[in-house]
Amino acid sequence: MSDPRTFAIVGAGLAGAKAAEALCTEGFDGRIVLFGAEPHRPYERPPLSKGYLQGSSDRDTVYVHPPDWYTEHQVELRLDTPVTAIDRRAHEIVTGDGGRLHYDKLLLATGATPRKLTVPGSELDGVRYLRSLDDSDHLASAFRPGAKVVIIGGGWIGLETAAAARGAGAEVTVLERAELPLLRVLGPRVAKVFADLHRDHDVDLRCRVTVKAIRPAAGDPSSAGTVLLTGGTELEADVIVVGIGVVPNVELARSCGLNVDNGVLVDRHLVTSDRDILAAGDVANAYHPLLHRQLRVEHWANALHQPVIAGQTMLGRAASYDRLPYFFTDQYDLGMEYTGYTDPDGHDDVVIRGDTATREFIAFWLNNGRLTAAMNVNVWEVTEPIRELIRSGTQVDANRLTDLDVPLTHATVG
Ligand code: NAP
Repeated sequence: MSDPRTFAIVGAGLAGAKAAEALCTEGFDGRIVLFGAEPHRPYERPPLSKGYLQGSSDRDTVYVHPPDWYTEHQVELRLDTPVTAIDRRAHEIVTGDGGRLHYDKLLLATGATPRKLTVPGSELDGVRYLRSLDDSDHLASAFRPGAKVVIIGGGWIGLETAAAARGAGAEVTVLERAELPLLRVLGPRVAKVFADLHRDHDVDLRCRVTVKAIRPAAGDPSSAGTVLLTGGTELEADVIVVGIGVVPNVELARSCGLNVDNGVLVDRHLVTSDRDILAAGDVANAYHPLLHRQLRVEHWANALHQPVIAGQTMLGRAASYDRLPYFFTDQYDLGMEYTGYTDPDGHDDVVIRGDTATREFIAFWLNNGRLTAAMNVNVWEVTEPIRELIRSGTQVDANRLTDLDVPLTHATVG
């Protein structure tokens, strides 16, 4: 006899799709219902600002599963169906069309939404964000030789988008309010590598600037045409892209009374303050047992791996999420991977193995002699030893760590 329970997943992004897959892999043969607000079946986001945006990978590569996978695995995929409420007492989900569905376990994988620019004129047509497949399609068609592209925000979205726009031959300006792009995440020495990279590719990177307003295009009052900076600078733009971070989609969780604080608060098993409701992916602020703190991670690898633990927990198995954060980027001829986690004030030293000038190096963030995070740039197959060094919490010797002749596995003290 098959399992009589219904497991609902709200959010048909990577995390939602991977949770459905995990439940199937774990042998759950009850009902799985996956709700998505968009019309597209689940897709991955990294290609949207990299290969897919650049036109080097086609649309089929962005999807998490082939179209038939959902029916083949008896996953009920309800696209275009936003969930509007959760009735915890009745154990029911309410959808935008007024439908209700009973759940036994519920996973929130509602992701995040781009933070909106709020200066005058930011609501004009032509002020674009990059989050969805449709956004990526729109920008890909707008990035043409000679097009004037102004990007607001020098974070990961801003820089990857700048690289794609330059690849298409557009004239690109990046506006960053800090003194370097990615400064908060990488610190001055490593952030400068990215600033130089973009300037070397003829991006007009302007730091310490603040956008004051967006002015309509001449002859078209509804469309954006010029970006105004404090100090009086005016930048004409055919395309304006805003990448100033994301905010977790917590409305459903908050309105049904779950504990929310910078995301939906979950324990190491990804369970919320209601034992029948879990959260995973960008929206989940999860207790990390290795780092001994709550952590909300907005990167792809988290949305890929956390749902496996969520699925196991939904099935009553003892599982806890303790993977280290990991992400990657590709910009021009620079590829990098980042493993671990550090706050701006969570380390007391940054040491480099290799040469930042040639963009072939590993940066290590250390705290009290222990490795907390590392970023390998155009150096490959080092993630495993890096992960081991971080996880072990062993004292490392900075001199050995930075000596190219010493294998990373021999970089510990003693
Ligand atoms: P992000 O990486 O957090 O960068 C946002 C940038 O915008 C930061 O430099 C931030 O500066 C700046 N900023 C914030 N508010 C601003 C404002 N009002 N005006 C001007 N600048 C402002 O966010 P994102 O680039 O938008 O990316 C969205 C999410 O997707 C992030 O979680 C990102 O990590 C993820 N993502 C990851 C990848 C990857 O892993 N390769 C690629 C794309 C996106 P402060 O730091 O000073 O706040």
